[in-house]
Amino acid sequence: RQLHSHTRARAHHKDIQEVIFTADAIKERIKVMGRTIAEDFEEKEPLIIGTLNGAFVFMADLVRSIEPLPTGLTMDFLRASSYTGSTTTGQDAVSLGMVSKTSVRGRHILLVEDIIDTGKTLQELCGRLRAQGAASVAVIALLDKAARRTVDLTPDYRGFECPDEFVVGYGLDFNELYRSLPYVGVLKPECYL
Ligand code: 5GP
Ligand code: MG
Ligand code: MG
Repeated sequence: RQLHSHTRARAHHKDIQEVIFTADAIKERIKVMGRTIAEDFEEKEPLIIGTLNGAFVFMADLVRSIEPLPTGLTMDFLRASSYTGSTTTGQDAVSLGMVSKTSVRGRHILLVEDIIDTGKTLQELCGRLRAQGAASVAVIALLDKAARRTVDLTPDYRGFECPDEFVVGYGLDFNELYRSLPYVGVLKPECYL
């Protein structure tokens, strides 16, 4: 966490032990990633897919930073879940299909995820998208708990490496709470124990 000490803020919600990525730090990072993605997908008519619910805040900020706008860029969402109220990874990663029923066949996909922990959720989703005929599947995650990986999965783009602590905010929840906080912070243990 020392690495990120410059991103810490003072004012935050009472249930937050520590802010590890401020709204400003996230904004700056997304600006840079947006330009890279615009370049990499310039000719690819990308289909950007956000995983609900966690990635909705990141997705909203990310797509607005993809400049210049690649021709034919479209987007959709799908629901994936591996956590059900606990703070450890479950075995129940499920994709319930695309919200707007977009066809992925032949499309260059950028899958937008809030955080990668074991990597099981994304491995499963990437496999399904390839099986459905995607031309390519790239992954962007705002946060990467690289030390926790149990499967062979490395995001093509990532915002920040995340310490191995349970974080909330900027779309990330605990029991559906805290998603609206504009920063990412560590939840006080007494709030989930
Ligand atoms: P994985 O399949 O990679 O183990 O789990 C990824 C999913 O677990 C994420 O999309 C997210 O929903 C949830 N997750 C993993 N770590 C955290 C965390 O620190 N905080 C929150 N709120 N969710 C997490
Ligand atoms: Mg997620
Ligand atoms: Mg969750």
